[in-house]
Amino acid sequence: MASHILHRTTDRDLPVAVRGDGLYIVAADGRRYLDASGGPAVSCLGHSDAAVAEAVADQARRLAYAHTGFFTSEAAEELALRLTAAAPGDLDYAYLVSGGSEANEAALKLARQYFLEKGESARHRFIARRQSYHGNTIGALSVGGNMARREPYRPILMDWSHVSPCYGYRGQEEGESDAAYGDRLAAELDAEIRRLGPESVAGFIAEPVVGASLGAAPAVPGYFRKVREVLDRHGVLLILDEVMCGMGRCGSLYACEQEDVVPDILTCAKGLGASYVSIGAMLLSRRIRDAIAAGSGAFQHGHTYLGHPVAAAGALAVHRRLVDDGLVEGVAAKGALLERLLLERFGNHPHVGEIRGRGLFLGLELVRDRTTKAPFEPSVKLHQRIKRAALERDMICYPGGGTIDGVRGDHVILAPPFIAGDADLSEIVGRLGEAVDAAIDGAGG
Ligand code: PMP
Repeated sequence: MASHILHRTTDRDLPVAVRGDGLYIVAADGRRYLDASGGPAVSCLGHSDAAVAEAVADQARRLAYAHTGFFTSEAAEELALRLTAAAPGDLDYAYLVSGGSEANEAALKLARQYFLEKGESARHRFIARRQSYHGNTIGALSVGGNMARREPYRPILMDWSHVSPCYGYRGQEEGESDAAYGDRLAAELDAEIRRLGPESVAGFIAEPVVGASLGAAPAVPGYFRKVREVLDRHGVLLILDEVMCGMGRCGSLYACEQEDVVPDILTCAKGLGASYVSIGAMLLSRRIRDAIAAGSGAFQHGHTYLGHPVAAAGALAVHRRLVDDGLVEGVAAKGALLERLLLERFGNHPHVGEIRGRGLFLGLELVRDRTTKAPFEPSVKLHQRIKRAALERDMICYPGGGTIDGVRGDHVILAPPFIAGDADLSEIVGRLGEAVDAAIDGAGG
């Protein structure tokens, strides 16, 4: 039967997924796919969590929807309370949307409105980093620095600023310490704010651990504290995008806890709904909320499905599993095991330049030559080959590639569900090893 879906991939004959079973997605033809990346780092609880499924069904039976212009709901209130109580600093308020792009759109508009309320109406500019991804909607894509994803839409995007990412593998100079590298990047940000005119800059947005654009790349220690200092000096808001790296993925509920910084606005999604519901959240500081309460009184932004009770109930059940059942607590040890297995299999691999990441969010960067760090030719599309080779071995991983200052690198991300056992992690690394070798052989590596 011909498909009437406008697909997002040029791959044809996609398997039809019919059932989830722990770490596996089962297709209509009976094939079982080991989900080593939780899709794009979404399925932190695997694919058959009975407690979450029941919570979603129960909420849908009791109350599916009540317009947020008229009502609030128990599920949304309870979720907001849990998210903010667990968040660092004074991130005391939440705004519940349907996904990551929506959360980042809301963050940009909230930052703008905050300055309007304060009478700083000239602040309208945003700065982000190259090789970042903040979503596919026009605002989020404008602020994002994933040049490949931006390119076709450039004429309809806003012209915002991009500074260097914190990407030690390619960005750090020979012999440069982490501290010196962090200082250099903070100075670059400072110079960019001054160039634009500090009174015109509203916010700086960054992923604590860069996902799709760099392949699970954390910043060097101290980088975010230095960034925070620069922003504070100029009165610019810090927006941290934890859509991919948050909700326990890196071993702490919020990734920024490991950076020892508190942003003014934090966005999360993916693991928040763990794939059971479509949900994103923006957390904001008391200071921002108070400025709005004292000013126009309400955030001038909204969507039909804001604070959706079924999505909120699902996320609440996910949160209970993550926090109350101790799943996040287990991430650091599982991540350490996965990293050790990756080091054993790929530590001396001639085409693996770096193994990096945090918790159960780990990436490999593939290179043609380990010494020069020269990447594979873009035309080889190595990451696509790895995706296909893994699928042939009934496994889903999350490969990508991107241009960084003219240099293209391929990477693959592993982000297995937090319920993965030791044997699952070995199986994942075994299949990935075969897939990477087969893909490189096919690329003439
Ligand atoms: N920010 C980051 C860091 C992401 O990884 C993504 C999704 N890959 C988004 C934002 C956009 O989220 P969504 O696809 O849910 O709109």
